[in-house]
Amino acid sequence: MSAATAAQAAYIVAALLFILSLAGLSRHETSRPGVGFGIAGMTIALAATIGLASRSIAATGIGLLVLAMVVGAVIGLLRARSVEMTGMPELIAILHSFVGLAAVLVGWNGYLDVEARGSAQTDVAGSLLRIHHAEVFIGVFIGAVTFTGSVIAFLKLSARINSRPLMLPGRNYLNLGALAAFVVLTVLFVVKPNLGLLIAVTAVALALGLHLVASIGGGDMPVVVSMLNSYSGWAAAASGFLLNNNLLIVTGALVGSSGAYLSYIMCRAMNRSFISVIAGGFGIEATTTGDTDYGEYREIKAEEAAELLGDASSVVITPGYGMAVAQAQYPVADLARRLRERGVEVRFGIHPVAGRLPGHMNVLLAEAKVPYDIVLEMDEINDDLADTDVVLVIGANDTVNPSAAEDPGSPIAGMPVLRVWEAKNVVVFKRSMAAGYAGVQNPLFFRDNSAMLFGDAKERVEDILKAL
Ligand code: NDP
Repeated sequence: MSAATAAQAAYIVAALLFILSLAGLSRHETSRPGVGFGIAGMTIALAATIGLASRSIAATGIGLLVLAMVVGAVIGLLRARSVEMTGMPELIAILHSFVGLAAVLVGWNGYLDVEARGSAQTDVAGSLLRIHHAEVFIGVFIGAVTFTGSVIAFLKLSARINSRPLMLPGRNYLNLGALAAFVVLTVLFVVKPNLGLLIAVTAVALALGLHLVASIGGGDMPVVVSMLNSYSGWAAAASGFLLNNNLLIVTGALVGSSGAYLSYIMCRAMNRSFISVIAGGFGIEATTTGDTDYGEYREIKAEEAAELLGDASSVVITPGYGMAVAQAQYPVADLARRLRERGVEVRFGIHPVAGRLPGHMNVLLAEAKVPYDIVLEMDEINDDLADTDVVLVIGANDTVNPSAAEDPGSPIAGMPVLRVWEAKNVVVFKRSMAAGYAGVQNPLFFRDNSAMLFGDAKERVEDILKAL
């Protein structure tokens, strides 16, 4: 068996492992083996690729490659070990930008390589050369959009720049104009390639990525993260075509399509259409807050909340971003266990965009060893909330906001939410009356059956545990 055949066989095994990994990651119970499959697939892929490259590249080249990988791996490991769960979305965003940048470099290299050596000396010639030129352009375009888009997403998610949408006049025409320019430039490049056109398409794509994400507001950032995930997959697939690497094409397509599907799920969770997310402008400061009189709110102490829980027969806990900030998942898991030991039915209700990244709450609860079978999705728990004695809203705000369901003028109108206000009693854990991520006031806090338990969520849950 030749080295090339062995490498292709290894690629098929790696591709299958990646598919198994995705399948595993789609359920809590199987997510650990899912990660294991992914690591195994990537190890095989890297070994096969380096093995194959070592036949055509000088030893110093391989040495440099391995050195670069070791440096990258060390930085990656250190970063991944130190990142807080709340900082994960911005880390993911900046990692996507690397994929985009790599695709741009691969594209440029693909063009310069053919130019420098002349098409006769490369393995692309004739009509294949035209396809090669189109691949260069598509790879550079998707890569550059991903690169600047991800950098802006990183800056917004890490609050280094304002997350409000940039509202340039005629912004949709700017986007459509950039797409039209890409099509025209691609045709020109395929007919008669030159460096000027490559520079032009890179500049157009960099500007498009910047504008696309800058014009998307805070409320739509969950979708942006998964959308950029999808773009980075397509950018990798485009690089795969250029590098003639089947595994990169398959892996890129897996990432691209799963990211696109995740974006679709998130859009549905927020009742937004994909086109309207891309068109931007959502998440502008609320118009219904300010002068609206919501009435008085009621405060409760931890001991009273403990009494309420002591008398309850059913309790639902709906965690949000504040639980992640407070790292309250461990005492929350203890509280759930303690109540269950007393015979109380305890379940968790998870909103699809609770926290700051897809699956954020599920990861935290799994970390604190909450049994999976009591962690339910929003749609699974919503109809049971009216029969629930006590709902504990732990650091959640937008995801339990009744105005999404009841106030058509609200900036989050139409977003499906956990209908916690239907329960007999609601206890809201937060530090103040401040708004959540979308900047919208929450009328839940002023309802007769709601009470505010102010303070850090972790400390307050520990107080309740003591009182129990
Ligand atoms: P929100 O961001 O709406 O609200 C979180 C609340 O937690 C705040 O009101 C804050 O109130 C409270 N809080 C913060 N720190 C603490 C603490 N230490 N102890 C107690 N409370 C605390 O959270 P949700 O999870 O309900 O909603 C998620 C929002 O994030 C949605 O708007 C969603 O669109 C958006 N988003 C989601 C992403 C995803 O993929 N899941 C990605 C990006 C954005 P206070 O300051 O008064 O304590």
